[in-house]
Amino acid sequence: MLSEMADYPLRRSLPAPDVTSEQHIWNWAQNAPLGPQTRLQRPQDEEALRHIITHRSGRIRPIGTTLSTGDLLAIQHEQDTLIDISGLTGLLRSSESSATFAAGTPLNEVYETLKTLGRMLPASPGVIAIQTLAGAIATGTHGQGLGQGALADDVLHIRLLCADGTVAEFDRDHPWFGALQLGLGCLGVMTEITLRTVPLTVFTCFKSAVSAGRLQEEIYTWNKAFTFNKAWWFPEDDRVHVWCSRAATPGERQRYRAGDGDAVALGAGDSSLNATVDQTLTHMQNDTRILGEEGRHFDTVTRFKDFTDVTGDIYQLFCRGIAAPQINVEIGIPLARAGQTIALIKQWYAEAHPHMHYPVILRCTGPSSAWLSPAWQQPTCFFGFVVYYADDGTLSRDGIAFLQEVEKRLAAQGGRPHWGKYYHPALYRWRNLYSRWDDFRHVRAALDPTGAFSNAFTDCLLEVR
Ligand SMILES: Cc1cc2nc3c(=O)[nH]c(=O)nc-3n(C[C@H](O)[C@H](O)[C@H](O)COP(=O)(O)OP(=O)(O)OC[C@H]3O[C@@H](n4cnc5c(N)ncnc54)[C@H](O)[C@@H]3O)c2cc1C
Repeated sequence: MLSEMADYPLRRSLPAPDVTSEQHIWNWAQNAPLGPQTRLQRPQDEEALRHIITHRSGRIRPIGTTLSTGDLLAIQHEQDTLIDISGLTGLLRSSESSATFAAGTPLNEVYETLKTLGRMLPASPGVIAIQTLAGAIATGTHGQGLGQGALADDVLHIRLLCADGTVAEFDRDHPWFGALQLGLGCLGVMTEITLRTVPLTVFTCFKSAVSAGRLQEEIYTWNKAFTFNKAWWFPEDDRVHVWCSRAATPGERQRYRAGDGDAVALGAGDSSLNATVDQTLTHMQNDTRILGEEGRHFDTVTRFKDFTDVTGDIYQLFCRGIAAPQINVEIGIPLARAGQTIALIKQWYAEAHPHMHYPVILRCTGPSSAWLSPAWQQPTCFFGFVVYYADDGTLSRDGIAFLQEVEKRLAAQGGRPHWGKYYHPALYRWRNLYSRWDDFRHVRAALDPTGAFSNAFTDCLLEVR
């Protein structure tokens, strides 16, 4: 997040240019210092965490993998504390239809553990799984599919350490649960999270490359017809790469089970997107000046070459991203207005020909019960935009100009930004966008009256003086 329409932060050059920068904790993207090294605590259990909270001298910010923006994570004063929760990890217990994990468990581990139990989450995954469970929940991290919501929508129970060191437990029927589901780290420190699980299912994903001519209508068709749909839109070539996934047939399942456990490709490769991919790769390489192995994250588009249908579990099909430092902007638009928003972007593209660093990523989800979810109570289409950092930590000027312009246009359509990604708060009227905004503030004031778990950015966001 950025407080004004300023440029996005640059990455620090590595190795660190001066000794002082090593005295700081930096976020994962290496584009924001979060606080002094001396103010970082890494408790190994809940008792140690309680001790840190009750003996604090300033404020506290819980952090996970620190993939979110520096604004959301940073502490401001020398007596404040960053609490890295990665020591609280692992499966704590499971039942037939649920599993409880320590809050710092990486999503990779959550998914792998569930798979060994023959289970999965109803929510489909995002593109990567290095996030902590708590960090992913707290910002509304999501995948795709109208029949499911964000990871936060699969939460059944949260155990929270409060500012006075007491434990608060929240079930779905608690009147504040919608606030706890997506709390931005401002309500307390989650220590245990219980998730709803369903039987592990094998899916087949059908991939195609089509004209973008009817994208504003087809986005609805694909999402209604398939359990999970994801699309990458290349406006420059007027093409869309579409992934449509449904439960595998008995024959597809048999073929998958006969393999070595990896996803199974079906049929010969389709090369109809190859020229579009080459054009995008040229933009990405020109913009970042990254060639060769260092640019392995460019495989996120290279893999679209010679694409094939594929059978596998949900994590094998959709959780395939390569995490690389980037500026990512993702704006949720109510599904009913997705088509007109696509038409608006098309019109803008035709008039202005803005620079396209990366395709537009389209993922729709069902309604969320989290009060601050961009998909609160309504199906939502998320429009995602990415610009990768160059080798020297800079960002393509044209790529950034595109992000700034497209965010303005989507905000004007009533868009709501992803809390863990980059956005410009000045573009949004939160109270108009979120009917439970003030309710969230009241829960925060009740759970954490002194603002022990807030920072300067969340104070400003939630208008806490
Ligand atoms: C390369 C990349 C790919 C991504 N892909 C997707 C995607 O596919 N879908 C999607 O929706 N998002 C995606 N994201 C966004 C990402 O999922 C969020 O930024 C998420 O919050 C990161 O989790 P984290 O563990 O890094 O949390 P952090 O960034 O460390 O923290 C996020 C928030 O959680 C709070 N928090 C952390 N631990 C606790 C705790 N124990 N109790 C209470 N609050 C806590 C923090 O205070 C902070 O407010 C992506 C981001 C990147 C950089």
